[in-house]
Amino acid sequence: MKIIRTAAIYARISSDQTGMGLGVQRQLEDCRKLAAERGWTVAEEYIDNDISAFRSKARPSYERMCEDIRAGRRDAIVAYHQDRLTRRPMEWEQFVELCDQAGVQNLATVTSDIDFGNDNGMLVARITAAVAANESARKSERIKRKIQQNVEQGKPNGGAQRPFGYENDRITVRESEAEIIRTLVQRFLAGESVRSLVSWMTAEEVPTTAAAEGWRTPTLRQILLSGRIAGLRDHHGEAAGPAAWPAIISVAQHHQIQALFQTKKVSGRRAPRSYLLSGMLRCGNCGNRLYSSIRRDRRRYVCLSGPDHRGCGRLTIVAQPVEEWIAAAVLMRLDTPAMDDVLTGRADTNDRQAALLTELQTAQSKMNELSEMWAGGEISKPEWMAARMPLEARANNAEKQMNQIAGANTLDALVGQGEHLTASWDTLNLDRQVAIVRAVLDTATILPGVLGARSVDYNRIIPSWQL
Ligand SMILES: [Zn+2]
Repeated sequence: MKIIRTAAIYARISSDQTGMGLGVQRQLEDCRKLAAERGWTVAEEYIDNDISAFRSKARPSYERMCEDIRAGRRDAIVAYHQDRLTRRPMEWEQFVELCDQAGVQNLATVTSDIDFGNDNGMLVARITAAVAANESARKSERIKRKIQQNVEQGKPNGGAQRPFGYENDRITVRESEAEIIRTLVQRFLAGESVRSLVSWMTAEEVPTTAAAEGWRTPTLRQILLSGRIAGLRDHHGEAAGPAAWPAIISVAQHHQIQALFQTKKVSGRRAPRSYLLSGMLRCGNCGNRLYSSIRRDRRRYVCLSGPDHRGCGRLTIVAQPVEEWIAAAVLMRLDTPAMDDVLTGRADTNDRQAALLTELQTAQSKMNELSEMWAGGEISKPEWMAARMPLEARANNAEKQMNQIAGANTLDALVGQGEHLTASWDTLNLDRQVAIVRAVLDTATILPGVLGARSVDYNRIIPSWQL
């Protein structure tokens, strides 16, 4: 074990009387005691008098300590609690990186121990940092009291711009914009990406409510996610009850949108794609997924070998004919009576979705509670980990079911539309085409072909349908 000879003690006094509002003297005494228990030699004590960390006031002693760590003059850090050291997750990340680069592995706090060498310790530390940031945010709540009062009365909030879809009084619906919102929601629920919808709004030259600004993904995402358009009051990003203004979309649709965003967040499918069937084709030799590639100006799907891909590397098929065949099959399938049957008996989907969302949010908030209990020293780390496990399982399970429903919702808007979509297929952007194919097709296996065959043998394509 490394002998610690130049440890730093850090203490900070702050005006907040909640949580760890301890006098600096008490902090120092406890830190010195801890260092002594560990057999660490303290080289210097750094003390800051900080009125509110949340306003990111300068902390000269903290800066000086960081400088000493950077220069290799310190080999350990002792603080009373992690929230004395840093208050915002960002600051904590920077501090961790600094220690990492300087090779400082030992950080001890009186309330808990964090060892940089241990992944779990890191995770725990980051969660604690997030909780600490929450504490600070809570203090600014009072300033928002007026807004909250308005929200409670169902009145619209003030703000520079009128909300899209409503007149300046924030109550009357502006029908031309409401129509656009309904279209957006329908297309989003049918699987189109926000990015693609932004392009559409831009191409249609839909005016924004702000003077000189074009449409952007965050703006559109905010509109889609807002409870406002479903006639619900938003508060801190969550719907807080019926509002004084009329709804443009249904509450059920609002829940579907939330669920779909949640699903996207979880699956993280955001990489731009260039091929219709990327990720959906399997090699008939080895079962590995096929990758897109261009050879001699022709787009192909190929099985790739090597440590990154682990396929057999012995299968290739020209892209265009497969894409055309699959698209045609998908669209045809949308108009079959079998699809209608799939949709009947799913009327209770909305209720289930709302229930799953609640389940997911409950599990998540319970996990947050646990980490706060751990941060407050009410439970031990093993207890925390043990209690967390079943909650994680519940959250994962709810997410999985929400994924399935999101897929089914996409289908709702598509069934019976096959013929119509076939006519307009080539005018749809790739994003929308992919969403449609994905709603119907699970994967397609490509069987090995005859070497040197000039045309694609369609019998090589074995689709496996979602439903
Ligand atoms: Zn293969």
